[in-house]
Amino acid sequence: MPDVFDLAISDLLTAAISIASFALGAWLGSWFPDVDQKIRFLRHRSIVTHGFLLPVLLLVGVGATRLERVDWFIAGFAAGVSVHLAFDLFPEGWRGYALISAPIFGTLSKTASMIWLAVSVFLCLSISVVLARGQVGLVTYGAALLLLYVYGVVSQRERIAGPLLTLIAFGWGAASWTLVTDGRYIRDLLPL
Ligand SMILES: [Zn+2]
Repeated sequence: MPDVFDLAISDLLTAAISIASFALGAWLGSWFPDVDQKIRFLRHRSIVTHGFLLPVLLLVGVGATRLERVDWFIAGFAAGVSVHLAFDLFPEGWRGYALISAPIFGTLSKTASMIWLAVSVFLCLSISVVLARGQVGLVTYGAALLLLYVYGVVSQRERIAGPLLTLIAFGWGAASWTLVTDGRYIRDLLPL
């Protein structure tokens, strides 16, 4: 018969590893979109990194493994990207590098950039909510968004109310949508 104490320890360990994976993903995701500045053939605010593309690719590709830790990592990564994009949704002015740029297509208009960023924030939050399941998931998810937001504010971002309201409203929307549909639209992306 398994020892109750052993069970509690292994549960704690599992939760700790999950949270650590989530945190690592969230940290990476929070700065990942700006790697476009380091890539020669991409302009800053490139659609390739400033959007839902990589989180969705990760979900489809790495999601195939169905490893819990990988799920948590992607959930964190998507949460990190969503916070980054929520800040980018409120630039000082919609000109120059505030606009999203797409390879070949060029710079998107203000409206198209806003829609792209808003849709991406919503999708990234949805991916995060679907993957970070259960109570531990929701608490970790909420705490991560809050921490990333505070980090974003502290690292001299200009607007602070807009990104926060966006994250709260979209996070609530993504969570409700996930509850209603049981995250089917995201789970369908997973091969298994
Ligand atoms: Zn950015």
